[in-house]
Amino acid sequence: MAVVGGGVVGSFAAMAAALDGLDVTVIDPRGPMGGAASRSAGVVTVQLEDRDDVLLVLESLRLIEGVARASAVRTGFLQIGREEDLRDSVEAMRAADVRYELLSPDDVKHRWPELRVNEGELSVYTDLDLAVEPTVLASEVEARLKELGVKVLRGEVTSIRVSGGSATGVSLANGELLRTDSVILAAGAHNRDLLGKLGLSLRVAVITCYAYRFDLGRDLGLPCFSDERRHSYWRPWGSEMVGGGYDAEWSDRPVYEHREPPRTYVERSLRMLTYRLRAQVSPVYVRSVNGPCEITGDYEPYLGEVEGISNLVVAGGLRGYGLMRGPRLGELAYAVSTGKGFPPVVEKYDLRRLLTPLDAR
Ligand SMILES: Cc1cc2nc3c(=O)[nH]c(=O)nc-3n(C[C@H](O)[C@H](O)[C@H](O)COP(=O)(O)OP(=O)(O)OC[C@H]3O[C@@H](n4cnc5c(N)ncnc54)[C@H](O)[C@@H]3O)c2cc1C
Repeated sequence: MAVVGGGVVGSFAAMAAALDGLDVTVIDPRGPMGGAASRSAGVVTVQLEDRDDVLLVLESLRLIEGVARASAVRTGFLQIGREEDLRDSVEAMRAADVRYELLSPDDVKHRWPELRVNEGELSVYTDLDLAVEPTVLASEVEARLKELGVKVLRGEVTSIRVSGGSATGVSLANGELLRTDSVILAAGAHNRDLLGKLGLSLRVAVITCYAYRFDLGRDLGLPCFSDERRHSYWRPWGSEMVGGGYDAEWSDRPVYEHREPPRTYVERSLRMLTYRLRAQVSPVYVRSVNGPCEITGDYEPYLGEVEGISNLVVAGGLRGYGLMRGPRLGELAYAVSTGKGFPPVVEKYDLRRLLTPLDAR
């Protein structure tokens, strides 16, 4: 099997396939987790607003914790907002059987004296959530792939070969052809281009997302947290806080080169942190990262076999929530490729809702 793209989805799909005894090659010009994954803010939380997303995260936690050694700390996650801001995620967690605690401002002050929650606000705490340092996770994932016998090829796939209605190989930028009996396409924001070369249009948008690091001077022992009114989410990493909001820009192509974010983005985050942290702490801006994310019109991921091409499975559409949902989506992509049966949720992610022949647009 060839897995095109060794990001979150591709790496975990490859692990599932290798554990099942398959001979697997992952191809990625940036190496495992070298794309959007390594630029991620690293917040992994079950506090999402849709039951199926929560279930994806629960399974992804198992997968991440199976690989992570130094890259992940189980800090828990505190969501702060007005009752109406928190309602959907509380319902989603209840439906997914996730244990959570509702905390008053005084409860929060007692547990995390440096964190400010005001009267009239509510907090929801879960203890499963992870703070992940993605570049460290990347080397752990690479080591795990090697351990499982997965071949990792640093190269760019220029096209997927199809013959007689089946995927038969992938062409590389260096002119080589890798023959294979099945392909999982997990190239994130590049899926659209690679499907375009097969004459297919994938209806997704590509955006550039930003995350920021601030130094607080010391480790405050905080959990990951979000400020729901300010659409801002954060994880602690030693003396630093890493995170951001929904700051993003439309892009006509996936952007990897560093872009200094507009000052307003950084200032908004700085104001939020200064507000949420008690007076003695003065966050200092360290740096930002940016990377490409793909987003679907209904915000749901996509997963499925390409109609008319057997042995080609495509997965993606994870927007800014892919580190936390992608590992399980990768595992499901492998399950779909075997055709042996998979959970009903796969139907909801049906690729066909987004894929049309290019000439039918
Ligand atoms: C700034 C930022 C902050 C984020 N914060 C969070 C967060 O806190 N929590 C969270 O859950 N998610 C976060 N995300 C989102 C998360 O990183 C993505 O949703 C996730 O990485 C998507 O996984 P993927 O496998 O689909 O794509 P990617 O991880 O991008 O993997 C795709 C891979 O395909 C490779 N590729 C591309 N073209 C080719 C080709 N032609 N041939 C071979 N390989 C190719 C790329 O190099 C890349 O490694 C953030 C993203 C960004 C950019």
